[in-house]
Amino acid sequence: MGMQSAGSSASRGLRLALGHNCLSSGCGASSCSLCEHNQSRRCRSHLKAKYVSRDFLRANCGAALAVGLVDESGQCCVQPLPGLVLQVCVLDAKRYKELNPSNAPLGFDALSPCILDKALLRWEGGAEVAMVSLPMEYNEASLSELQCFSISGEHQSGKASSYRLLLWLQDQPDIDPLVSEAFVVVTTRAKSAMKSAVPSVEEPVGRLEGIGEQAVATLKALGQQQEVASRLPRRLHCVEKVGQYCELLAAAKLDLQLERDLTTLFKKADWNKAAQHASTAVHPDFRPRVWWQ
Ligand SMILES: [Zn+2]
Ligand SMILES: [Zn+2]
Repeated sequence: MGMQSAGSSASRGLRLALGHNCLSSGCGASSCSLCEHNQSRRCRSHLKAKYVSRDFLRANCGAALAVGLVDESGQCCVQPLPGLVLQVCVLDAKRYKELNPSNAPLGFDALSPCILDKALLRWEGGAEVAMVSLPMEYNEASLSELQCFSISGEHQSGKASSYRLLLWLQDQPDIDPLVSEAFVVVTTRAKSAMKSAVPSVEEPVGRLEGIGEQAVATLKALGQQQEVASRLPRRLHCVEKVGQYCELLAAAKLDLQLERDLTTLFKKADWNKAAQHASTAVHPDFRPRVWWQ
């Protein structure tokens, strides 16, 4: 009894925190001249916005996610608390948003209706399970071997599933569970629809946001649109790379008629989204440099 109360007072004010040691060599500033040729930019969040089914749940830079126990000031809790077990499962992000639109901290019981009771996780290549249990070491656990699956087929066929991770400590009711940022897991069939965080001019144009399968086909066959083709140099009659798309945008900026003709071929909102994304495209160069942190 005495032990238990000591334990609960020790855990007061402690909470779980999710993080990663960013492996990106560039910084996050879009205007940084040192990083303009570098696709590797400091992550703005720990989880990626989108994964393909079976992906390891790592940060965009490839670093493993880590879960740690921190105190009120956000410092790692150094007090030894042996025997802590971290549990991880998957929440239905849509249901969670309905239940808790302000993303307020909730207890486990309040969150339980959002838990997806399906085998969507896998640890270290083992069996697919609904929940993974991991021992905490020095009040920390690495999620490096955690894979996540999409809910494929069934009633949700074709649609991407939106999840959040729910992480909590077994038998520690005083420490609130942690709900991660929302992320999407698409089926392996939808892999080609994945977009680049920072596109490179040498990537396929379909890696741009707003450019779907239909738009890829239209851009590839621009030469067949006589009005458009007559206003473009030959190398832009078949637009397949992000770099070519950037050239196309530049040409449309100087030629109002061309811009008008192009916008009839694509949805305006998608075209603007793609133009915005293309404006961040990186031109790789081969000058040697040294990165350090
Ligand atoms: Zn990172
Ligand atoms: Zn920079």
